[in-house]
Amino acid sequence: MTSHQPRSPFERLKEHYDHAELVCQECGFEDEAGTWEASTDGATIVYHHTCPKCGAERVHSLKLSDSDAAREHAQKRR
Ligand SMILES: [Zn+2]
Repeated sequence: MTSHQPRSPFERLKEHYDHAELVCQECGFEDEAGTWEASTDGATIVYHHTCPKCGAERVHSLKLSDSDAAREHAQKRR
């Protein structure tokens, strides 16, 4: 495994969502090609995914100051 520059826990959390959180809770559709979008206002980071089938939106948000929480979330449900 090649190691690039250290990634922030928030990037790792996005990857976690991209892999583990793509099944819609409304209709059960698995958006295999989908990704979560991350956006931030400088204080909070918001991850957002819209189901391509039924349009249900899912949002996770975290404080940017809370990188420990991001780390914990990314390690869950492996
Ligand atoms: Zn859906």
